[in-house]
Amino acid sequence: MEMISCNTCGSLKFRSLFSKESPLGESFQIVKCSDCSLVQVNPQPNLEEVIRYYSDSYFTQRTDRGYDNYYSDKVKSEISRVFQLNLQDLKFFEWENDYKNHSPYVTDGKVLRSLDIGCAAGYFVDYMRGRGYSSYGIEVADGPVKFARETLGLEVYQEDFLGWDKGFQNQFDTITLWATIEHLHKPKETLEKIFKHLKPGGCLVLSTCRYGVLAKILGPSWRYLNVPEHLYYYSLSGLLKVLKTIGFTSPVSLSYGSGFTSRANAGIFYKLSKKFADWFVKKTNQGDMLAILVKKPKGNVF
Ligand SMILES: [Zn+2]
Repeated sequence: MEMISCNTCGSLKFRSLFSKESPLGESFQIVKCSDCSLVQVNPQPNLEEVIRYYSDSYFTQRTDRGYDNYYSDKVKSEISRVFQLNLQDLKFFEWENDYKNHSPYVTDGKVLRSLDIGCAAGYFVDYMRGRGYSSYGIEVADGPVKFARETLGLEVYQEDFLGWDKGFQNQFDTITLWATIEHLHKPKETLEKIFKHLKPGGCLVLSTCRYGVLAKILGPSWRYLNVPEHLYYYSLSGLLKVLKTIGFTSPVSLSYGSGFTSRANAGIFYKLSKKFADWFVKKTNQGDMLAILVKKPKGNVF
C-alpha cells in the first residue's frame, strides 16, 4: 500500500471520507482530493495486491461485486441491450454516420477500426464486429480472454493497455472503456494514450460509476464502493474536466441507475419502484452511473 498523489491534479492533500472493508477482510481508506475533489482509494494497493480479487469466480459466481455467470447468453444479451441504449443516448450512431460521410480517413470499402479496453469476455468487441467494424479488445484477466478468443473467435490482446505498443497511434476510429476506468491504477495516463491512438475525428465512449448525490447520501453502503477493485470514483464534472484537459471535445453525457438492482423474483411493488426511480434519476441527471462520448478534434495528428 502506497500513498500516491492525486491522479487528476497531482495534489498530496486529501480529506478522509471513511474506510471500507474488502471481502478478504482488508481495510481501505476512501479519501477526497482537497484540490480537485476526486474520490479515490488512498493509500493504494498495487496491481499484484488487487489482482487477487479478480479470480475467475469474479466472473462466474453470483455476488453483488461480480456477475452471476457472466458467460451465460442471458447476461450477454442484457449487457448488449445496455450498450445499445447507451450508444443511442450518447448519439453514437449520429457520430458514426457523420464520420463515415465526412472523415478523410474513411474511403470507399474501408472498414472502421474499434478497440474495447477492459473488454472482459469480449461482448462489446463482438457487438462492434456485428456492426461491421474491424474490432479488437484488450483485457488482462485469463478466463474472459480465453472465452473471447475460443468461444467467440475474437481478436483480444491479453496485456495492460499502458504497456501495449503495436504501432497503433492514430489508428482507431472508436475506443471504448465500459465500466473500466474506475479499476485502473493510472486512469489519466490511459485517457492520454487513448487520445493518441484515436484518429482525428474519432470518438471515445466510456461509462463508470458516478460519485454524485446517491453516493454521498449512501456513504459506505453505496453499491459501487467495491474496494479494492474500484480505485477511483469520478464526479461527472470532474471527469469531463480531465477529458477536456487532455484535448477531447464535444462531450455528450448522461447518467442512469437509481440503485435498485434487477431481481428475477421481485414483486410488482419493487418492479414499479425500480422503474420509477430509474426514470426519475435519468430525467434529473442524478444516476449513479455515467456515460460520456467525446471526440478527438479533427486535424489533431500526433
Ligand atoms: Zn486532485
